[in-house]
Amino acid sequence: MSNFDVIREADQSFVAGTYGRFPVAIEKGKNATCYDFDGKEYIDFSSGIGVNSLGFCDEGWINAVTAQLNTLQHISNLYYTKPCIDAAGLLCERTGMKKVFFSNSGAESNEGAIKCARKYSYDKYGEGRNKVITLVNSFHGRTVTTLSATGQDVFHRFFFPFTDGFEFVPANDIEALKQSLDGTVCAVMVELIQGEGGVMPLDTEYVKEIESICKEYDLIFIVDEVQTGVGRTGELFAFQHYDITPDIVTTAKGIGGGLPLGCIIFGEKTENVFGAGDHATTFGGNPVATAGAAYILSRLDREFLDEVKAKGEYMRKKIMLMPHVEGIDGLGLMMGIRLDDTVKSADVVKKSIEKGALLLTAKSKVRLLPPLTVSYEEIDKGLSAMEAALKEI
Ligand SMILES: *Cc1c(COP(=O)(O)O)cnc(C)c1O
Repeated sequence: MSNFDVIREADQSFVAGTYGRFPVAIEKGKNATCYDFDGKEYIDFSSGIGVNSLGFCDEGWINAVTAQLNTLQHISNLYYTKPCIDAAGLLCERTGMKKVFFSNSGAESNEGAIKCARKYSYDKYGEGRNKVITLVNSFHGRTVTTLSATGQDVFHRFFFPFTDGFEFVPANDIEALKQSLDGTVCAVMVELIQGEGGVMPLDTEYVKEIESICKEYDLIFIVDEVQTGVGRTGELFAFQHYDITPDIVTTAKGIGGGLPLGCIIFGEKTENVFGAGDHATTFGGNPVATAGAAYILSRLDREFLDEVKAKGEYMRKKIMLMPHVEGIDGLGLMMGIRLDDTVKSADVVKKSIEKGALLLTAKSKVRLLPPLTVSYEEIDKGLSAMEAALKEI
């Protein structure tokens, strides 16, 4: 048996079978290059679904995290700690937002954002104004409430009863949004580029109109940047491409760089909605995770973000010349590759793994979320593997 077969067998014995895994077990990595337990090399264009912002085992991040680990790993949110203040300060400074609540994941951040929007409305208007409008094809998480917020029927099975108070409208259709405003709505929640839904960007005009509708009707405008945040699109947050001011931005995935961390970032309207005791978590704002986050944020300066854009452009040009490729959606290092209908995205990803590149799917597209620090040499290597897969398929 190969090392992989031993690992797969043990996994099947003891680990709940909730994932349809690819037939690979990764042992170690550096930047965007990693190795399986049998020594095979891969270029990672997935960064663990947009998590490893600085790739595998970035030296500066490891130093920041281990320094904190050797100082104080946890004390509880009943005491003040320093790293979460540093990370929150950087987030506010770089976004113009006002306050941060740290959680542990994307779903939890969205769950907290929904609670905040409902409380804002309750405080001001009383009961009965609690509906959250989200978009068809959106993805907001796996808790019962964030599943309810997710605009895809496949997620609304088995786990009844779901949380009430959500309505879905088609993306980029402002009339549909206007028609949903029946006096019971308190918030609109969107991904600016739907990630799991297939790397589907919203039109700029539409996003601006949502902002002005939210202002006009005093609705909380929540932007879910769990996937698009933390430099992924070539700005620190995707909303910064749109010249808008959301009332709440949520993020997770890339902010922890590989440690579990999420954020609810509050704007002027929402910064004081939660008072002491209204919302809490045991692990959120953990010193080790937030020390890493503060380091990541300090690295993501203008020059770094421009490099993300440049690498994205470089990859797009090369990918457009490959067989079966019809177009590429997304921004920066978030890419959804449209394929002709003779090939399936899942088959391309499987074949690419054989050739030595780790990719993702998003519905019918091949999705790429490389580490933001991916080198040009790694890009060339990974794209060659992907091209070989596309040629053979
Ligand atoms: C991944 C994702 C989530 C859920 O995040 P978890 O950390 O898995 O809970 C929510 N929203 C978006 C846009 C995501 O991409």
